[in-house]
Amino acid sequence: MDFFQVISLEEALQRLRNHFPDNRLEIEEVSLLQAQNRFLAEDLSAAENVPDFNRSTVDGYAVKAADTFGAGESLPSLLMAAGSVRMGQKAEMTLQKGQAVAVPTGGMLPEGADSVVMVEYSEQFDADTIAVYKPVSPGENVIARGDDLRQDEAILSRGTWLTAKHIAMLAACGIGRVKVYRPVKFAIISTGDEIIEIDQPQNIGQIRDINSYGLASIIAQWGGEVTYRAIVKDDYEALKQAMTEGLAQADVLLTSGGSSVGERDYTYRLMQELCGEDVFVKGIAIKPGKPTIVGRADGKPVMGLPGHPSAAMTVFRVLMSTILKQWGLNLQETLVPARLSINLPSAPGKTTFQMVSLQQEQNGFVAVPIFGKSGMIHLLGHSDGYIVLEAHQEGLEQNQQVLVHLL
Ligand code: AMP
Ligand code: MG
Repeated sequence: MDFFQVISLEEALQRLRNHFPDNRLEIEEVSLLQAQNRFLAEDLSAAENVPDFNRSTVDGYAVKAADTFGAGESLPSLLMAAGSVRMGQKAEMTLQKGQAVAVPTGGMLPEGADSVVMVEYSEQFDADTIAVYKPVSPGENVIARGDDLRQDEAILSRGTWLTAKHIAMLAACGIGRVKVYRPVKFAIISTGDEIIEIDQPQNIGQIRDINSYGLASIIAQWGGEVTYRAIVKDDYEALKQAMTEGLAQADVLLTSGGSSVGERDYTYRLMQELCGEDVFVKGIAIKPGKPTIVGRADGKPVMGLPGHPSAAMTVFRVLMSTILKQWGLNLQETLVPARLSINLPSAPGKTTFQMVSLQQEQNGFVAVPIFGKSGMIHLLGHSDGYIVLEAHQEGLEQNQQVLVHLL
């Protein structure tokens, strides 16, 4: 059997890019909040100027800056009170030289005003006079029309993974509907005689289906959808039926477990049936996650992930994010530089994903590796992220700088 013709991680990722070059996802239009976690399918520019009027950033008095030059604690500039601007309304007056108009934070500056004196540096002397104790320069405490976002300025490009910050910016210029790629649909099949649904009573020897939940959660974060899900015993026919069904209902078929060479591990055989010659990854030189199989059926990715949850999830993240990026869906990873707390030996010839927790110290972060026996869920649950030791690296030294991929 040609099982476990282990290849390097780079080679595996390159094969993935070659086999799944294009995004075949349709485009749909959704309202702004529904766009959360989805991938933008159009380039967007600001629909209007933000703000659409010269806007004060403080409570105070709109003035001509030149009228305040030389003002000080002992010798204030005395300006003529010329009314006030109401929040949310157009400033109807035109400010003349020597005048001050009261404006609230976010209020519009009247025509003729170029700056705002903070109320803290002013005093209402009498009904007609405002004393200014500190000079302002032109533009001070003002966001000019279009200064924040200029109409027609490019703001977001196709493929952007939309999160709160983007959605807020789109709201600012009145873009209430956006074109996004439809969610990628996933089928998740957990295999193993010992696996039970998480709400079932547990007999000795059984374990709960962690992988479906862990994978589904990553998928949700990536704006995808689980359209088929099953827990299947180590039974050839049952697994075949589930895989066929899952493939029909999804864009990507994921199985976990049953990918090592155990007697009853059918995933590989079934992947060959499903994918024919197109099983192009049969083991990857990574730790954890070596027993990973990937093929293509009906043009769709089919992944046989390892059974151990943290391995399944890490491998899925790394492989699937590569496919999504190849498809122009720009997942953003957060990387945090940190100092490694201990010497870390590498697994020669293998790319190692080492879970770490992050601790803050005075000048940055310390990455503390979390160790345990293979398959322990707390390794994942208590980690803040992982670091990658490349296959060619001899190991990492204590205090060396590393990049932590946040989870
Ligand atoms: P296997 O690849 O089937 O030999 O599985 C490797 C290990 O992962 C075994 O200890 C399984 O019990 C465990 N495992 C497999 N699938 C799951 C799952 N869905 N949830 C939790 N653990 C699993
Ligand atoms: Mg199994």
